[in-house]
Amino acid sequence: MKKLPDISQDVSQWYNEVVYKAELAEQSPVRGCIVIRPYGWALWENIKSVLDARIKETGHKNASFPLLIPESFMKREAKHVEGFAPELAIVTVAGGKELEEPLVIRPTSETIVHYMFAKWIKSWRDLPLKINQWANVVRWEMRTRPFLRTTEFFWQEGHTAHTSKEEAHEEALLMLDEYVKLAQDYLAIPVIAGEKSATERFAGADATYTFEGIMMDGKALQMGTSHMLSRNFAKSFEIEYQNKEGVLENPYLTSWGVTTRLIGAVIMTHGDQKGIIMPPRVAPIQIVIIPIYRKGSEEVVREAVQELYSKLSKKYRVELDEDDSKSPGAKFYEWELKGVPLRIEVGPRDVENKSVMVGNRVTGEKTPLELDGIDAAVGGMLEAMHTELFDRAQKRLKDHWKHEAKLDTFGPAMDKDAGAYQTGWCGEIACEDKLKPFKGSIRCVLKNKSFDSCFACDKNSERDVLVAKSY
Ligand SMILES: [Zn+2]
Repeated sequence: MKKLPDISQDVSQWYNEVVYKAELAEQSPVRGCIVIRPYGWALWENIKSVLDARIKETGHKNASFPLLIPESFMKREAKHVEGFAPELAIVTVAGGKELEEPLVIRPTSETIVHYMFAKWIKSWRDLPLKINQWANVVRWEMRTRPFLRTTEFFWQEGHTAHTSKEEAHEEALLMLDEYVKLAQDYLAIPVIAGEKSATERFAGADATYTFEGIMMDGKALQMGTSHMLSRNFAKSFEIEYQNKEGVLENPYLTSWGVTTRLIGAVIMTHGDQKGIIMPPRVAPIQIVIIPIYRKGSEEVVREAVQELYSKLSKKYRVELDEDDSKSPGAKFYEWELKGVPLRIEVGPRDVENKSVMVGNRVTGEKTPLELDGIDAAVGGMLEAMHTELFDRAQKRLKDHWKHEAKLDTFGPAMDKDAGAYQTGWCGEIACEDKLKPFKGSIRCVLKNKSFDSCFACDKNSERDVLVAKSY
């Protein structure tokens, strides 16, 4: 097989090839849409199952809303339609006839969900209402990249309604916090959470919270968002309820989502020259067992690997690679490319010694392990690997993260080598726009204040911002 492009020279090309070579996805006949192959989908399912459990534990219920939305719905909230209009795919003909009203393929579901909320929310007793759906959406993107930016993508979108602004705000921050935990505790990706500037907000939100990862090339990736929607949504869709005093009021709404882009984040955070590295807690295959046959001892080895497989697969996601058309070397190469955390090699001498060789995908080390007690030992190795991956990514984040007072200094550096810059900002769009020539943007407004003035002018800065190039 052809080698992957040099990751230290061209991360972008490395990414484009590794996605296909590792069989995560395949290009489809429709531009910007990908086929997610079983190995990639299994990763998404593992991420989904972790998050879905948390969504339910935090009091939300799953439901499903239609893929098609009447075009007029999109137009009800002015900012929303303005933001989404350029990306909409619209069905105008169906059943062989021109439709009376065109139908939009959902780019997000606020409008249809709020239409239903208006029917379901009548009294303060109906609140809070907390709904989530797992779905695919379509946004007509001009420049696409597998997982990172695709025309069709999969995600979850949460939609909630509350009696008070404070409660809605708590909800938006709670879900942001759940996302941060998902990224750090399962994907082993350290992230920076903050609030979007007005220009980067979700179309129609009063506040958008984001969490951003810094990828290996120093560019920021927005990994998910959580929004406090403007009250206009509730007004436009006539969501009204009677409060305890019998007065009609509009509820406060939130929405929040993460997408299959998280798969792109995993690849762009943990990969190396050999391929991708799957974070152990969500890896589709955590352990691969490879028999090493020598003439005359095939049967002994075959029995040993099958016994090992049945023991380990009770606790872990295990693959037994018995394909005898490939050499062990070819198999090592393939499983390293796919980023399986642990590789167990079993040869005749190992069977004799009641031990096996375990290869660690992160460190590249090979360690002998006794068969007795191996199930606990590999569990320890997988956990250590999660920490190792996180620490490595954390170290890189710190290396990329610099503090700089003025754009004159960091602008050219950012343009050339990317990187994340913490700096001050006066809050004005005119200054934000000055980042454009350097291909940077404000990724988020941080909580801390370590700069007294704006990166572009002499006005005061209330809170620091994080500036970077982004995907
Ligand atoms: Zn300024």
